[in-house]
Amino acid sequence: MLRIAIQAKGRLNEDTMALLEDAGISVSASKRKLIARASGFPLEVLYLRDDDIPQAVQMGVADVGIVGLNEVAEKGMDVVEEMRLGFGACRISLAVPREADYNGVSWFEGRRIATSYPHILRRYFEENGIHAEIHEIAGSVEIAPAVGMADAIFDIVSSGGTLVQNGLREVEVVFPSEAALISKHDLDPEKRADVEKLKFRFRSIVDSRGMKYVLMNLPKARLDEAVAILPGMRSPTVISLADEEWCSLHAVIQESELWEKIELLKALGAEGILVLALENMIR
Ligand code: ATP
Ligand code: MG
Repeated sequence: MLRIAIQAKGRLNEDTMALLEDAGISVSASKRKLIARASGFPLEVLYLRDDDIPQAVQMGVADVGIVGLNEVAEKGMDVVEEMRLGFGACRISLAVPREADYNGVSWFEGRRIATSYPHILRRYFEENGIHAEIHEIAGSVEIAPAVGMADAIFDIVSSGGTLVQNGLREVEVVFPSEAALISKHDLDPEKRADVEKLKFRFRSIVDSRGMKYVLMNLPKARLDEAVAILPGMRSPTVISLADEEWCSLHAVIQESELWEKIELLKALGAEGILVLALENMIR
């Protein structure tokens, strides 16, 4: 049986639980236990702090884990990145006081930087030939410049709101991150097969996010033009209607392009357009 390590509570917990649920895997609600047996897949769930997940997977305490790539990189653990999961998006960035005369990375030479990500920062400065003082602090990194503990910070940013509130300006995006499924190297063949099954389920969910299923009636004469607008998984599905002048067209459209495409299709004479949510997309 496969054992997966996930964050017990925090920013990744809810999306991780939702992903498992959508993949048909349910874990008992009495989850303040360290470990729980799932149903719907031969899986044991180990609830950990996110910091501990990369190591748990490298050591084989868990076979796989769901964790931010930022934690994997910071801990320097040698694990396999199986797939990115499309949530927990953030970046680790360098930020300086708003009024600083920032003129490029060389600004950091000889400065004091507060961070909870010293390893990633050290590597970045080495690559850029910068010598700076890295001060590792565990939390509230963003207040360090205001209280005189540092000249700048290297911290997680998602919207950037926290930086602005603290009079800071993001100047270098060093590490873009999101949650990923990671695994231990060299799993035995049985576990590897289970990981592949799990990835197959996750893939279909991640791929279907942000996609819509669209159906419409269209004058057959405009079909070629419509097909050019609507590439589907292969190409759109065309179904004949009793009225020979018309057909029904089905396609999968990225949500971000939905309205733009619908306007083009309406201009071609599309009618009765239905937009449906897409739950899974199995390639
Ligand atoms: P734990 O108690 O498990 O150690 P934590 O306090 O270290 O939790 P969270 O704040 O729950 O961590 O964040 C977990 C992960 O969520 C981060 O490592 C990062 O990958 C991701 N994340 C996404 N957006 C943000 C954000 N705005 N701030 C912090 N982390 C974010
Ligand atoms: Mg943590």
